[in-house]
Amino acid sequence: MTQAVQGFDTLKVRAGYNSHDHNYAVAVPIYQTASYDLGSAERAERLLGLEEAGAIYTRIGNPTVSVLEQRIASLDKGTGAIALASGMAAISYTMFNLTANGGRILTTPRIYGGAFDSFKRLFPSLGVEFDFVENSDDPEAFLQALRPDTKGIFIESISNPKAAIVDIEKIAKIAHDHDIPLIVDNTFGTPYLLNAFDHGADIIIYSATKLLGGHGTTLGGLIVENGKFNWANGKFSQFEATQYILRNQKTGQPRNILDVFPQIPFTSRIRFNYLNYLGAALSPFDAFLLLQGIETLSERITKKIATTKKIVEYLENHEKVSWVSHPEAKDSPYQDLAAKYFPKGTGSIFSFGFKGSQEEIRKFINAVTIFSYHANVGDARSLIINSPKNTHGELTPQEQLFAEITPDLIRLSIGLEDANDLIADLDQAFKKAFNN
Ligand SMILES: *Cc1c(COP(=O)(O)O)cnc(C)c1O
Repeated sequence: MTQAVQGFDTLKVRAGYNSHDHNYAVAVPIYQTASYDLGSAERAERLLGLEEAGAIYTRIGNPTVSVLEQRIASLDKGTGAIALASGMAAISYTMFNLTANGGRILTTPRIYGGAFDSFKRLFPSLGVEFDFVENSDDPEAFLQALRPDTKGIFIESISNPKAAIVDIEKIAKIAHDHDIPLIVDNTFGTPYLLNAFDHGADIIIYSATKLLGGHGTTLGGLIVENGKFNWANGKFSQFEATQYILRNQKTGQPRNILDVFPQIPFTSRIRFNYLNYLGAALSPFDAFLLLQGIETLSERITKKIATTKKIVEYLENHEKVSWVSHPEAKDSPYQDLAAKYFPKGTGSIFSFGFKGSQEEIRKFINAVTIFSYHANVGDARSLIINSPKNTHGELTPQEQLFAEITPDLIRLSIGLEDANDLIADLDQAFKKAFNN
């Protein structure tokens, strides 16, 4: 297939799959098998010697999962991808891969609550430290926070829950000036709204659980690379070290990951080490469900963005709303960055300030009838949640302040229902919260 010239919507339903290789099945088949027949002793040697590509065992590769990997790589114009069992696995394995020879990661407090919590409380016990810039609106702050052993900068393209946008190109330049990669969690942007590689990202991460899957049914994580970062620059000796598993089986010659997979060293190193030994493999059935979701990605996002605009406008004009944090909002500080990086819109997940007591917030949340009260953003169903007590509830009050999660914050994720019904639902809930 000549994928390079095809448009996004063609790729999202077709890339990475050729029916001729799969008994002419039109839909991607689910390869529900743990293992694969090696065929012959000769073929087994070729497979294990990495001379021939082919599935061996579903923990490290499966044909259904592989279609998903190739599809996301082609949507992001990358060289390769790896699919994992959840977004958190994608984040964790990325951090392990970057810091395998020691070092620390620079990030911001404006990230997914689970990621923030793991960086603060789990990773240090495994020898990986994180630094947090105080103000991610200021690219200079990243420069100042770099240390000699910083091995990467990790940011979210559109932050959770306040839809803040960072100046990706400026941060990418700072990273590259210091020979380290920029890693972008583009879960809220999706490849449809943002191609992070075009703006200097080296690694892109997704929680496919959210907008890519899009129906709230399936967990999954993805890591995509574009093969451009120079891992042999002296800072990442783990990529230059030979590994016995990678040796040339005929000659016995030792090889490293850059020798064997020059275009996809980052995701391959994850596959051969972390996925292989820590084992967060995505199931073939779940890969199939995520592929189903991706087939309608742009149609869903386009509708969500249109509805989000109406809801942002409704909230901005409501007397019980003290602020609306979405780049579409009239007083958003992110309008210029949004115009530059997100010409199609900045998504459907954002938050607002509820002008009322905690008791009134409780009444408001109990009063909605269409919005569901749950944490999984990007679903076909709209959701409402009071983040300080839920999605970011594992943060201490000081950490919440640091991440700008104020007690009045309510997060919305807009689904595919009728915009008018969603607005009417919020409207009656506001009335019930204040008993009028
Ligand atoms: C949900 C989420 C994650 C974690 O993904 P899981 O699939 O739930 O493990 C990571 N990053 C962002 C931005 C998220 O919203």
